[in-house]
Amino acid sequence: MLRSIQDFSSSRLSGLKVLFRADFNVPIENGKVVDPLRIGATISSIKHLLGYGAKVIIVSHRSEEKTSLLPVFQYLKREIPISFAEDVAGSKARHAANALKNGQALLLENLRWDKGEKENDTQFSKDLAAMADVYVNDAFPVSHRAHASVVGVPAILPGYAGFQFLKELENLTPALSPKSPSLAIIGGAKFATKEKLVHELLKKYDRLFIGGALANDFFLAQGHEVGKSLVSDADHARSLLQNSKIIVPVDVVVENPNGKEDKDIEDVNENDCIYDVGPKSIAALKPIAEKARSILWNGPMGHFEKGFRRGTDDVAAIIAQVNAHSIVGGGDTLSSIQFLHLSDRFSFVSTAGGAMLDFLANGTLPGIEALKNSPQLPNSFSERDH
Ligand code: ADP
Ligand code: MG
Repeated sequence: MLRSIQDFSSSRLSGLKVLFRADFNVPIENGKVVDPLRIGATISSIKHLLGYGAKVIIVSHRSEEKTSLLPVFQYLKREIPISFAEDVAGSKARHAANALKNGQALLLENLRWDKGEKENDTQFSKDLAAMADVYVNDAFPVSHRAHASVVGVPAILPGYAGFQFLKELENLTPALSPKSPSLAIIGGAKFATKEKLVHELLKKYDRLFIGGALANDFFLAQGHEVGKSLVSDADHARSLLQNSKIIVPVDVVVENPNGKEDKDIEDVNENDCIYDVGPKSIAALKPIAEKARSILWNGPMGHFEKGFRRGTDDVAAIIAQVNAHSIVGGGDTLSSIQFLHLSDRFSFVSTAGGAMLDFLANGTLPGIEALKNSPQLPNSFSERDH
């Protein structure tokens, strides 16, 4: 059973020491947080815990191992009562954690300063766990990694999901059992990162539209010329082509020495580079989307960073218009549609990136399993003197 911070009575939270896994791996420039979206998403869980008098020890990683979380602390300081420890699970952190008063937070340094984080080292997990009574995971976007702060700590401390974690889990779960007729639209690049997902989606969805550079593998498998286009793995595409659920585009946008052109796939030659899905294919996709009750979309339809974004824009507009329950996600997918301001026209927009893909492919994540299997909070706990 997955427990969440909603399960705590308010009296239980008072004085409770919470080790809180956040995802504060946010863009930082010149020592300043430039995109606080992920901080904003999880701050309501932290405020909830602090509001009931918990002592909240926040841990997060930044992907660049040598960088500090100090800019995140500077940002948080304006929102909540918080202090900063200049190490991860060492004496400074322990000291600061011990000094916390009810309703105060503490941010520890970048978890990846310690190699025990990525290695899921038992001693490192114990050192983190020793500072707190319970563990909260509000970092769904990192929960596909079996790192110490994701799986090691909740094997020791009773584990709970935060609001943001629950929101992703509750909104992504319907994508595992879509209502028929259902449509999945998968684009992007690097077939290897999407292959398992494609196989799983084919078990559950009625139709699967392939766009982006992924489609190039299918064109090759169909025996078409793809010129200078990005391809990764036509062999796997070949076996998938047998599946009648799969829809491969019939036309594309290419770039060649003459500029940009729309072309039927049969007309692509060795000078062409395919950069987007063509208008005929989008027009064929539209009625399928209009009839669908569930739609899942991941992966840009084209090389949008290079200006090939008509296919992506059109797919976004179609999904925004139709009645289906729609789930949209993926790191690059969100970047590709952020200026369209359509997010509130989709049923759910997942900010979980790679964790979303893993969740959809496997039906769970290491971080979810760790919470489900973590120990119970002892009943006597509420009587204990903090
Ligand atoms: P997401 O992060 O949303 O899961 P991916 O990482 O799978 O998406 O793929 C996004 C990348 O795929 C983008 O950088 C985009 O430019 C690229 N892409 C899509 N279509 C093409 C194409 N036809 N040629 C080259 N790159 C493409
Ligand atoms: Mg990506």
